Amino acid sequence: MFGRSLFAVFSVMVAATACGGGSASYASVVDKAKNDKKLVIGVKADQPGLGLRTPDGAFAGFDVEVAKYVAKELGVDPANITFKETVSANREAFIEQGQVDMVVATYSITDARKQKVSFAGPYFVAGQDLLVRADEAALTGPETLNGKKLCSVAGSTPAQKVKSEYAKEVQLQEERTYSACVDRVLGGQLDAITTDNVILAGYAAQHAGKLKVVGKPFSTEKYGIGLKKDDTAGRKAVNDALQKMFSDGSWTKALQASVGASGFALPQAPQLERY
Ligand code: GLU
Repeated sequence: MFGRSLFAVFSVMVAATACGGGSASYASVVDKAKNDKKLVIGVKADQPGLGLRTPDGAFAGFDVEVAKYVAKELGVDPANITFKETVSANREAFIEQGQVDMVVATYSITDARKQKVSFAGPYFVAGQDLLVRADEAALTGPETLNGKKLCSVAGSTPAQKVKSEYAKEVQLQEERTYSACVDRVLGGQLDAITTDNVILAGYAAQHAGKLKVVGKPFSTEKYGIGLKKDDTAGRKAVNDALQKMFSDGSWTKALQASVGASGFALPQAPQLERY
């Protein structure tokens, strides 16, 4: 009996080591938070209002506020969060490799991504839209894209949609980040950026008078919090935290403070998907 339990302990140790240690060697993000009192969270660094690196090296925006609230509910003080920049194309890999414990980065819940990661949420619903130069008159919606040069980001759902539905009409340039796209459109090399309306509103506000959002969303982007695949306990705990954030007023407050200044029409909190 004694020998058997010792063997069991040894097996658990071997299994933990086999996982490569580091931040991935836990069954649930709930355990990581409880045991280490620290979390590494992936956010965007170049999306004003959502996830932006500030001059002092900190991160600010609605996603950052959501991350801080959720971490606190899991028992981690916001001061003990390490924010790590993610771009659209590396979010699944960062979670799978354990480089981050969760991703809060304008990250749409999709079936394809669910093959690799799990999602809590949604905590926000956006829609794919277009950002053009302020004097643009011809580009008024997805039906006017014929012959246009578009910019989006590799590994994003808007780039995927353009490739699958508008490939014949448009020329698509894929950048690593949306801020790189902004430079291309401001510089006149490309005609429009396509991604989620709430992201575009942040850039339009940053370049007021030079860029405008077309305002005809043509997809539904449900933002989820990315977790390790099959972390059921993590999904439940993060969804509980989001529910609390919705109902105690913190969600609306964070959205107003982060996104409100862009003029984006603020929605109500969405319904969580408790599957
Ligand atoms: N929400 C979309 C996505 O997850 C576009 C925004 C982004 O690239 O972060 O791909």
